[in-house]
Amino acid sequence: MTQIEKTRLLKLLYQQRAMGFEYFKEYKPVGSISPMLPKDFDSLENSVKGCYLCNLSKVRKNVVFGEGNKRAKVMFIGEAPKTSEDESGNIFVGLAGDIVTNIIEKVLGLKREDVYITNILKCRTPENRVPTIEEVSTCKPYLLQEIELVNPEIIVTLGSTSFHHLSEEYDTPIASVRGEVISFGTAKLIPTLCPYFLLRNPSSKKEVLQDMLKVKSLL
Ligand code: SF4
Repeated sequence: MTQIEKTRLLKLLYQQRAMGFEYFKEYKPVGSISPMLPKDFDSLENSVKGCYLCNLSKVRKNVVFGEGNKRAKVMFIGEAPKTSEDESGNIFVGLAGDIVTNIIEKVLGLKREDVYITNILKCRTPENRVPTIEEVSTCKPYLLQEIELVNPEIIVTLGSTSFHHLSEEYDTPIASVRGEVISFGTAKLIPTLCPYFLLRNPSSKKEVLQDMLKVKSLL
């Protein structure tokens, strides 16, 4: 494309945006759902809870499957269970869980049981380290099947690990993409920061608030 053609195209896009058109980046869901995976939630949960496909099965106490409304409009996706989740078997408990609940109830005006919450990885990593690509690629078909079954309109990724593994845009810093509305299959994906990061950096809560107000505007 010549420079003149690029300039014309840019001008056209600006004109259309002034007329109310919106543009979103687009990602296609990366990875594939295994045809062997169950097509109903209860069977999928049972399969995941009996999963020994990667080495994390040797160190976990509990598999932590997703929780919430199985037909939710909004789906939150975190990184992996931490110590308290591994011990309880429930997702986002403790102080990080309080942050998630506050976001849902006080900002979005929903109840926690109205949304669906899950993680990229279903088992805790040793010392809560960042999951490896191999661990995520082994576990990710479960997540993709959850997304397929819930069929959410909005997906909120919590933190860089969640965003990077879902989009496979590993070189995109979370700071440059958080709060953006991105097309992801049939859903809109909005990346934001991780609740565990907010526990260490409470001043970043205002950025998450901005991101969540954007989510609210799409409900
Ligand atoms: S992390 Fe995922 S793939 Fe690995 S054992 Fe747990 S459920 Fe299976």
